[in-house]
Amino acid sequence: MEGKHVVESMMLGAKICEFSSGTLWRGWSLLRRSAAFLVEYMKEQEYASLDDFRGLGVQYMMPADLIDWGVGRVAAAVDAGKCTGCGICCHNLCWAMSLDGDGDIASCSEELCGACGLCVAVCPENAVTLEAAAHTRTEQQIYAALADAEERALQA
Ligand code: SF4
Ligand code: SF4
Repeated sequence: MEGKHVVESMMLGAKICEFSSGTLWRGWSLLRRSAAFLVEYMKEQEYASLDDFRGLGVQYMMPADLIDWGVGRVAAAVDAGKCTGCGICCHNLCWAMSLDGDGDIASCSEELCGACGLCVAVCPENAVTLEAAAHTRTEQQIYAALADAEERALQA
Protein backbone atom coordinates (compact mmCIF):
# COMPACT_ATOMS: atom_id res chain seq x y z
CA MET A 1 0.00 0.00 0.00
CA GLU A 2 1.31 3.44 -0.92
CA GLY A 3 -0.19 6.75 -1.98
CA LYS A 4 -1.54 5.69 -5.35
CA HIS A 5 -3.11 2.60 -3.77
CA VAL A 6 -4.88 4.82 -1.21
CA VAL A 7 -6.44 6.71 -4.11
CA GLU A 8 -7.37 3.47 -5.86
CA SER A 9 -8.95 2.06 -2.69
CA MET A 10 -10.96 5.22 -2.11
CA MET A 11 -12.07 5.22 -5.73
CA LEU A 12 -13.55 1.82 -4.90
CA GLY A 13 -15.31 3.18 -1.82
CA ALA A 14 -12.80 2.68 1.03
CA LYS A 15 -13.15 4.91 4.08
CA ILE A 16 -9.96 3.67 5.73
CA CYS A 17 -6.75 2.17 4.35
CA GLU A 18 -4.45 -0.17 6.28
CA PHE A 19 -0.68 0.04 5.89
CA SER A 20 0.44 -2.82 8.13
CA SER A 21 2.47 -4.87 5.64
CA GLY A 22 3.44 -1.73 3.70
CA THR A 23 5.25 -0.29 6.71
CA LEU A 24 7.09 -3.58 7.17
CA TRP A 25 8.36 -3.41 3.59
CA ARG A 26 8.98 0.32 3.32
CA GLY A 27 9.20 1.79 6.83
CA TRP A 28 7.03 4.27 8.74
CA SER A 29 7.88 7.10 6.32
CA LEU A 30 5.45 5.36 3.95
CA LEU A 31 2.59 6.98 5.91
CA ARG A 32 3.97 10.50 5.47
CA ARG A 33 4.74 9.93 1.76
CA SER A 34 1.29 8.48 1.14
CA ALA A 35 -0.44 11.41 2.85
CA ALA A 36 1.64 13.85 0.79
CA PHE A 37 0.72 11.93 -2.40
CA LEU A 38 -2.97 12.12 -1.49
CA VAL A 39 -2.82 15.87 -0.83
CA GLU A 40 -0.99 16.48 -4.13
CA TYR A 41 -3.39 14.22 -6.05
CA MET A 42 -6.45 16.06 -4.69
CA LYS A 43 -4.87 19.41 -5.53
CA GLU A 44 -4.12 18.32 -9.11
CA GLN A 45 -7.63 16.90 -9.60
CA GLU A 46 -9.23 19.88 -7.84
CA TYR A 47 -11.00 17.68 -5.29
CA ALA A 48 -11.96 19.63 -2.16
CA SER A 49 -12.79 16.59 -0.05
CA LEU A 50 -12.37 12.80 -0.07
CA ASP A 51 -16.08 12.46 -0.80
CA ASP A 52 -15.50 14.15 -4.16
CA PHE A 53 -13.85 10.98 -5.52
CA ARG A 54 -14.66 8.19 -3.07
CA GLY A 55 -16.54 5.43 -4.93
CA LEU A 56 -16.12 6.94 -8.40
CA GLY A 57 -14.54 3.72 -9.70
CA VAL A 58 -17.32 1.37 -8.58
CA GLN A 59 -19.16 1.84 -11.86
CA TYR A 60 -16.22 0.19 -13.68
CA MET A 61 -16.08 -2.95 -11.50
CA MET A 62 -16.99 -6.33 -12.98
CA PRO A 63 -16.89 -9.98 -11.86
CA ALA A 64 -13.33 -11.32 -11.75
CA ASP A 65 -14.11 -14.14 -14.19
CA LEU A 66 -15.08 -11.59 -16.85
CA ILE A 67 -11.74 -9.76 -16.62
CA ASP A 68 -8.99 -10.55 -19.09
CA TRP A 69 -5.89 -10.68 -16.85
CA GLY A 70 -3.57 -11.26 -19.78
CA VAL A 71 -2.25 -14.52 -18.33
CA GLY A 72 0.11 -16.02 -20.87
CA ARG A 73 0.26 -12.84 -22.92
CA VAL A 74 1.96 -10.48 -20.46
CA ALA A 75 4.90 -10.95 -18.10
CA ALA A 76 6.82 -8.92 -15.55
CA ALA A 77 9.61 -6.73 -16.94
CA VAL A 78 12.32 -5.13 -14.80
CA ASP A 79 13.72 -1.69 -15.55
CA ALA A 80 17.44 -2.30 -15.05
CA GLY A 81 17.98 1.41 -14.52
CA LYS A 82 15.71 1.42 -11.46
CA CYS A 83 16.35 -2.04 -9.95
CA THR A 84 18.66 -1.97 -6.93
CA GLY A 85 18.87 -5.75 -6.60
CA CYS A 86 17.18 -5.71 -3.19
CA GLY A 87 15.64 -9.10 -3.97
CA ILE A 88 12.23 -8.36 -2.44
CA CYS A 89 10.48 -9.53 -5.61
CA CYS A 90 12.55 -12.73 -5.69
CA HIS A 91 13.45 -15.14 -2.92
CA ASN A 92 10.25 -16.38 -1.33
CA LEU A 93 7.88 -14.17 -3.28
CA CYS A 94 7.84 -15.70 -6.77
CA TRP A 95 9.50 -18.54 -8.66
CA ALA A 96 9.61 -16.44 -11.83
CA MET A 97 11.81 -13.67 -10.44
CA SER A 98 15.50 -14.06 -9.68
CA LEU A 99 18.59 -11.92 -9.35
CA ASP A 100 21.20 -12.13 -12.09
CA GLY A 101 24.51 -13.90 -11.53
CA ASP A 102 26.05 -10.84 -9.90
CA GLY A 103 22.98 -10.28 -7.73
CA ASP A 104 22.63 -6.78 -9.15
CA ILE A 105 19.37 -6.86 -11.08
CA ALA A 106 16.21 -8.92 -10.98
CA SER A 107 14.79 -10.54 -14.07
CA CYS A 108 11.65 -12.48 -14.85
CA SER A 109 11.51 -15.94 -16.37
CA GLU A 110 8.63 -15.42 -18.75
CA GLU A 111 7.61 -19.08 -18.90
CA LEU A 112 6.96 -19.06 -15.14
CA CYS A 113 5.17 -15.71 -14.91
CA GLY A 114 1.44 -15.85 -14.24
CA ALA A 115 1.00 -12.09 -14.55
CA CYS A 116 -0.32 -11.74 -10.99
CA GLY A 117 1.32 -8.33 -10.53
CA LEU A 118 2.60 -9.02 -7.02
CA CYS A 119 6.18 -8.08 -7.93
CA VAL A 120 4.89 -4.80 -9.36
CA ALA A 121 3.16 -4.06 -6.06
CA VAL A 122 6.07 -4.89 -3.74
CA CYS A 123 8.99 -3.31 -5.63
CA PRO A 124 10.11 -0.27 -3.60
CA GLU A 125 11.72 1.28 -6.68
CA ASN A 126 8.71 0.91 -8.99
CA ALA A 127 11.08 -0.98 -11.28
CA VAL A 128 8.63 -3.67 -12.40
CA THR A 129 5.84 -3.41 -14.93
CA LEU A 130 3.69 -5.93 -16.76
CA GLU A 131 4.49 -5.91 -20.47
CA ALA A 132 3.56 -7.87 -23.57
CA ALA A 133 5.35 -11.23 -23.42
CA ALA A 134 7.74 -12.32 -26.15
CA HIS A 135 5.98 -15.70 -26.32
CA THR A 136 2.37 -16.60 -25.65
CA ARG A 137 1.80 -19.43 -23.14
CA THR A 138 -1.30 -21.23 -21.97
CA GLU A 139 -2.19 -21.37 -18.27
CA GLN A 140 -1.49 -25.11 -18.38
CA GLN A 141 2.03 -24.48 -19.73
CA ILE A 142 2.69 -21.96 -16.96
CA TYR A 143 1.48 -24.38 -14.26
CA ALA A 144 3.63 -27.16 -15.74
CA ALA A 145 6.70 -24.90 -15.85
CA LEU A 146 6.09 -23.87 -12.23
CA ALA A 147 5.77 -27.50 -11.14
CA ASP A 148 9.09 -28.28 -12.89
CA ALA A 149 10.80 -25.31 -11.22
CA GLU A 150 9.50 -26.36 -7.82
CA GLU A 151 10.67 -29.92 -8.37
CA ARG A 152 14.16 -28.74 -9.41
CA ALA A 153 14.36 -26.48 -6.35
CA LEU A 154 13.35 -29.29 -4.01
CA GLN A 155 16.02 -31.57 -5.48
CA ALA A 156 18.76 -28.93 -5.39
S1 SF4 B 1 11.95 -5.52 -5.75
FE1 SF4 B 1 12.40 -4.03 -7.40
S2 SF4 B 1 14.41 -3.16 -6.82
FE2 SF4 B 1 14.14 -5.04 -5.64
S3 SF4 B 1 15.13 -6.68 -6.89
FE3 SF4 B 1 12.95 -6.63 -7.42
S4 SF4 B 1 12.82 -5.28 -9.21
FE4 SF4 B 1 14.79 -4.87 -8.23
S1 SF4 C 1 3.78 -10.90 -12.15
FE1 SF4 C 1 3.44 -12.42 -10.51
S2 SF4 C 1 4.07 -14.36 -11.44
FE2 SF4 C 1 4.92 -12.73 -12.73
S3 SF4 C 1 7.00 -12.41 -11.95
FE3 SF4 C 1 5.62 -10.96 -10.90
S4 SF4 C 1 5.05 -11.99 -8.97
FE4 SF4 C 1 5.86 -13.55 -10.38
